[in-house]
Amino acid sequence: MKRGPAVEISLAAIKHNYGLVRALTGNRRVIATVKADAYGHGAVEVASALQRLGVYCLGVAYAPEAIELRCGGVTKTPILVYFDNLNAADIVKYDLTPIVYGAGMAECLSGEALKQDRQIDIHIDIDTGMGRVGFLYDRDIEGIKAISRLKGVRVIGFMSHFSEADLKDRSFAELQLQRALHVRAELSGVFTDAIWHMANSAAVMSFPGSHLDAVRPGLILYGSSAFEFELPPPETAAFMPVMAVKARLLHIRRVPQGRSISYGRTFVTTRQSVIGVVGVGYADGYPRSLSNKAHVLINGQFAPIIGRICMDVAMVDLTDCRGAEENAEVVLVGRQGGNEITASELAAWAGTISYEILISLGRVNGRVYTDENN
Ligand SMILES: *Cc1c(COP(=O)(O)O)cnc(C)c1O
Repeated sequence: MKRGPAVEISLAAIKHNYGLVRALTGNRRVIATVKADAYGHGAVEVASALQRLGVYCLGVAYAPEAIELRCGGVTKTPILVYFDNLNAADIVKYDLTPIVYGAGMAECLSGEALKQDRQIDIHIDIDTGMGRVGFLYDRDIEGIKAISRLKGVRVIGFMSHFSEADLKDRSFAELQLQRALHVRAELSGVFTDAIWHMANSAAVMSFPGSHLDAVRPGLILYGSSAFEFELPPPETAAFMPVMAVKARLLHIRRVPQGRSISYGRTFVTTRQSVIGVVGVGYADGYPRSLSNKAHVLINGQFAPIIGRICMDVAMVDLTDCRGAEENAEVVLVGRQGGNEITASELAAWAGTISYEILISLGRVNGRVYTDENN
């Protein structure tokens, strides 16, 4: 069931952002991260567009996400599976490329590949300081070398992941890179053709030393900044937002001074007011924590969300807004007139990160795709 706001996805913006990543990285190979339904933008549509652009590889978190892409026609591009090696049979069957972070996994994958009379490509994860998964950079080197002897798997890549490449202070990111380079040197005689990749969006934008052989961005492909502060040029390079979210103004009411608005009476009119009812609620992925915090765009002007956001609707103060009419378009994320609301702004108002906003709005609402520059 599709209800509530409409989500517009610009595939032209994806193309632009992909080109910008290539330009910023000296045409490095790009492993485009399309996990979580491409951050709410639609995994099959986004991955198909990236495949047409000749992307080196795609990245998802779980094997079923990769299988969905394969069944949706993304058959030419390798798909890295970041976290999920549990179903070795499917990984081999659908020609997926798992990231391996344990010796047992590698053996199991090798055994399954041989059983299906195949050899599969794998990448290996080195934990240099993310503290999530991966062979420990200073403890597990022998275990990694042992993988080179397995007949059913071919190690074609190594990765590591930054835990705080989005900070102004890059000292820990730098330390992680040095650890990775050290492991790379130790393994160089064993895995001679394997590529190395570390850079997420933040590192693509601001840490060229980490671009290595390939980069692995997600967020910037969708046109959102990985930084909470303003970067100096050229890192502010013009990534274009891919998603716009638009709702409708369901109703306009005039209410006197002193009336409370919505659950909990957290907003009380201080003057005779014009109140708009917008067709978006927390059921549509518009976080309730935006209550009394967010703004929307109506008729090209900012209007504040007032009172608690309900499951299906939210109220806005239109008293200072000129020319608003019922059924008007209400922009929650995107541009209207000369003004813009970004996913990062919404995230700041809600006390979260733009990743969560994009995923939450993109996944539950009906999406429309455009391919033109506008
Ligand atoms: C999510 C993820 C990325 C992409 O991160 P962004 O910050 O969106 O660029 C890259 N690599 C791994 C392993 C990830 O889990």
